[in-house]
Formats: sequence, C-alpha cells, structure tokens
Amino acid sequence: MSSVVCVIGSSNTDMVIKGDKLPAPGETVLGGTFLMNPGGKGANQAVAAARLGAGSQPTRVSFVANVGNDIFGRQALQQFEREGIQTDYVTTDADEPSGVALIGVDSRGENCIMVASGANARLGQAQVAQALKAQTNPAATVVLLQLETPIPTVAYAIQQSYERGMRVMLNPAPAQVLDSAVLACLHVITPNESEAEWLTGVRVTDEASAQQAAQRLHEAGVPNVVITLGARGAYLSTSDGASLIAAPPVTAVDTTAAGDCFNGALAVAIAEGHDLPKAVAFACKAASISVTRMGAQASLPHRHEVDALPY
Ligand code: ADP
Repeated sequence: MSSVVCVIGSSNTDMVIKGDKLPAPGETVLGGTFLMNPGGKGANQAVAAARLGAGSQPTRVSFVANVGNDIFGRQALQQFEREGIQTDYVTTDADEPSGVALIGVDSRGENCIMVASGANARLGQAQVAQALKAQTNPAATVVLLQLETPIPTVAYAIQQSYERGMRVMLNPAPAQVLDSAVLACLHVITPNESEAEWLTGVRVTDEASAQQAAQRLHEAGVPNVVITLGARGAYLSTSDGASLIAAPPVTAVDTTAAGDCFNGALAVAIAEGHDLPKAVAFACKAASISVTRMGAQASLPHRHEVDALPY
C-alpha cells in the first residue's frame, strides 16, 4: 500500500501589486503591476508534496481545507485536482469567502501584507475527524500541519492523529502558542530561525544556538526538531544526535515558499520511510530548487528534478 501525506491547512489567493512605493495610511499610490497567485501555507505544502511524491514509490497526497463558494475557491479546487491531490476533504463554505492575501511590494522588495482568512478560519474539528478516519493505514501516514487555521482545530488534529498512530509534523508558522500536551504528540517540528526564537526565547544565529533552541523543544516533548536556516540549510536534532545539513549552493532569486517546499518534501521523504538525516537532505535539495525560481507554487519542483541533483 502506498504511503500517504495528509496536509491539513490553509488555502489562499495571493493578490500582489508590485509598485514603486508602499502607500502610507490614507494614501493611494497609482501605478504598478498586478499578479494573482494561488497560495496559503497548507495549499503550498500540499502541492509541494504532490509534485515530489510522484516518484518510483508514489505517495498519495490528500488535503484538508476549507474554501469559499466563489471563483477563488473553485480555481483552488481545480488547481489541487490538476496536481493529483485528493480533495475529498476540501469543503466549500456556504457563508465565508475564500482566504485572500493582499500583498504590496515596493521597488526595494519591501512588502506589506493583509490576510483575510475567510473560510480558513472555519476549518473545524468534524471535518478533520472525518479526514483522519478515512486514513486506513495510519503507520504509513504522515500528517502535516501549519498554524494558519484555527488553533483548536490544529491541536485536535495533532492529538487525534497521534492517537491513531500517525506521525505528525508541525510547521509552526506563523508562530503561535501551543499547549505542551499538543507538542508532546508531534513526531517532528520544523520552525525557521525566527519561529524557533519565538517558541523558545533562544536567538538562533549559529549551530550552538540552534542546538539550545532544539533542546528547549525536546524538553517540551518534541522528539525530533528541524530548524530551517535559509541558505545554510537545516539543523536536525534527534535522540540519535544533531547535525547541520547544508543546503546545496544556488543563486537564489525568490525565497517565497522555500519553507513550504521544504516541509512538503520532508513529509514525503518521511512517508517513504527514509531516516531523518536523509529526509532533511532531500528537503534541502527540493527547497534549493524552489529558491532559484520566481513565485510560490510556480517555483515548487517535481520529483525528477530533485532526483537529478548531484548531491
Ligand atoms: P522560511 O522560508 O520558512 O523562512 P528558510 O528561509 O529557513 O524558511 O528556508 C527553508 C529552506 O529552504 C532552508 O532550510 C533551505 O533548505 C532552503 N533555502 C532557503 N534559502 C535558500 C538559499 N538561498 N539557498 C539554498 N537553499 C535555500
């Protein structure tokens, strides 16, 4: 039976205006170019997993999310289906619109973002319970979550998945407080440097501080900690030891969704049965490709591209 990655999280439509300057409050700035892209950490990670799981041991990817009954929700569903993602548990909310992010970017690359969560804020426990019940092989299932949907639903999903014997990965982004009883149900947590600092109070600047932050997370009950370190790669800490796993050197043009690519890739590699050092190396390779391309989902690589990398 094939392995499964079940992503539970957000789906948004990103509307981006790139212009000379960002408006001050009350100001209207004319000019600029408009782009509309599918986004949301949950959707990005599901797409990454679907593209990367399509190798010699195909991994089934299912997505649990809530979209609005509008053009954005319909486009998102079509996109998930094109990517081969199972959408049985993507529901269409009758009352709330699809999640939307309005993003302004100025000529220096500085940005300003407002997110209306819409239907994402209504992702509920009943929907999650149904999706988890449908996973018939818990030992071969990796559940991947982020923090853009309601925290009670995330906490419920983590605890239920754990009790059913599934391995749970949490990408704690954007950083928010989680109960220690919830953290203790995780298999892996994957903060970036700023999320690691937010969660532990330790400023992550090098390997020694990454180990200190990882230690705090171990003390909170998380057995495996992966702190992503941008161009330096990722720091892995487990009961077997700790090491920095280097990112392949590339010329980065756009790091949007690098973390989402990393998380989707890590989930696939774990679901395929690779040990964590190998799985993190695979995720670093995949994410290094994503930063060489523009965009969020547009930048996410396919499996054959990662397998073709020499490292
Ligand atoms: P986030 O995007 O969530 O802030 P990071 O910036 O830590 O997360 O990036 C996630 C992963 O993407 C890193 O662990 C690394 O593997 C890869 N990555 C990010 N930036 C680069 C880069 N400039 N060169 C190569 N790999 C990168």
